Amino acid sequence: MPELPEVEVVRRGLARHVVDRTIAHVDVAHPRAVRRHIEGGDDFAARLVGRTITAARRRGKYLWLELDGEGADAVLAHLGMSGQMLVAAPGRPDEKHLRIRVVFADEGPELRFVDQRTFGGLSVHPLAPAAGGGLLPAPVAHIARDPMDPAFSLDDAVAAIRRRRTELKRALLDQTAVSGIGNIYADEALWRAKLHGARPTEKLTRAQGRAVLTAAAEVMDEALAQGGTSFDALYVNVNGASGYFDRSLAAYGQADRPCPRCGTPIRRESFMNRSSFSCPRCQPRPRSR
Ligand SMILES: [Zn+2]
Repeated sequence: MPELPEVEVVRRGLARHVVDRTIAHVDVAHPRAVRRHIEGGDDFAARLVGRTITAARRRGKYLWLELDGEGADAVLAHLGMSGQMLVAAPGRPDEKHLRIRVVFADEGPELRFVDQRTFGGLSVHPLAPAAGGGLLPAPVAHIARDPMDPAFSLDDAVAAIRRRRTELKRALLDQTAVSGIGNIYADEALWRAKLHGARPTEKLTRAQGRAVLTAAAEVMDEALAQGGTSFDALYVNVNGASGYFDRSLAAYGQADRPCPRCGTPIRRESFMNRSSFSCPRCQPRPRSR
């Protein structure tokens, strides 16, 4: 599952390579990739042909391409587990798992949606007013702003988390108080804020809430700055390691390695069918509730 910095890298690449270009033709190679477009693949293609892409936008890990015209609609990308948005020269051989090809009128690089596991896909939706402001594709209008969003309100997000009756890491991951934080960045933010993910949100202080969300924004900013993923190659794997993961993670994936702050071996605990990584000394587990 791509994390927010990777999705932002792809958004920037799309902004540079497909915005202001007019769609000439769309091939839907696999019906599953357009299953969220309930009117079907032919309708999906027909809605895109002749339209110009006017913007590439993102909220949390959701990405969409706005289209010109009176309809105020957009192509929403669900990346799922393995979805990739690639920009590829027209002559380049098709990828094995190519699902959708968008050909442009300028005969320049194509936009290809490639998805090995076919959990992802593309669909066209009207833009709808979102709770936090702005116009979003209707299916994602409920998604909270992420910490990298210029309009993100730290105080509102902290208040929303403290209203929850859950564990802190669950609140960070559930996309309604704050979006875009996945397992990796949750563990890194909790480590920086010296908080265990099992801490009850209702007992979290405002300062602790601000600390963990500020840390999340910092770690994602750093990943974005260091992420060597390049759209210049005209071929980008959304799920490709940014290089950041191996070099700079303090806690995530670091089981039994020394905590960079105190030297205590990082602990691994099971969490929602995955793993959580934390420092037993810097991030003491809360007493049972
Ligand atoms: Zn430590």
